[in-house]
Amino acid sequence: MPVDRLDDGTWVFAPYGSMLPIEDGARVVCHVCGAALAAISAQHARRHDLTLAGYRERFGLNRKQSLLAPALAETRRVEGKRRWAENDALRTGLAVGQGMARSGVLHELGTTAQPAGSRRRQGRAAASRSGASPALQAHRAAQSETARARWEERARELGFPTLDAYLTERRAHGGTAHRVRTELGCGGTTAVRLLAAHNGSASDPKNST
Ligand SMILES: [Zn+2]
Repeated sequence: MPVDRLDDGTWVFAPYGSMLPIEDGARVVCHVCGAALAAISAQHARRHDLTLAGYRERFGLNRKQSLLAPALAETRRVEGKRRWAENDALRTGLAVGQGMARSGVLHELGTTAQPAGSRRRQGRAAASRSGASPALQAHRAAQSETARARWEERARELGFPTLDAYLTERRAHGGTAHRVRTELGCGGTTAVRLLAAHNGSASDPKNST
């Protein structure tokens, strides 16, 4: 049954300004309909035409207020901790990545580890040699492949057979990094690098790989 009333007169099933845990914290009560749930999920909120942010706002919950039942929050916390402890490779990779980002090494790798004319693969190898963990290397390689595939697809959408063909065309007709960035949807630094790398590989074909 309703336990509180909003300023607009709407009766609600949990008090304004807080969550209402029941069953020893196993569930929380939805303010709108009174359902007992493990969490107010985005899907559940949507049934009431609310986003999670909208739900919090309407019922006076601050942004940090968890919408999970205490039991579920605890389960998630323990699971997260266990995964963190078990996945040594991931943890090492993250730690290295964070350390490198903080010290600016990632930026260095991104801009200078690929000497003019090197192909991307060589750039990656150079970055790997400078001490990233295997986990981080794998992560980086996967990301790089994914990004490359996306740019290839963009190039085809723009009517070019390949990304290289696209870059050749842009270079030949004064394509700017800004234009490449806009057309491929990549970052500005990447656009500069793609244009430069292609410039190099055009005059120095694949014989160095
Ligand atoms: Zn509900």
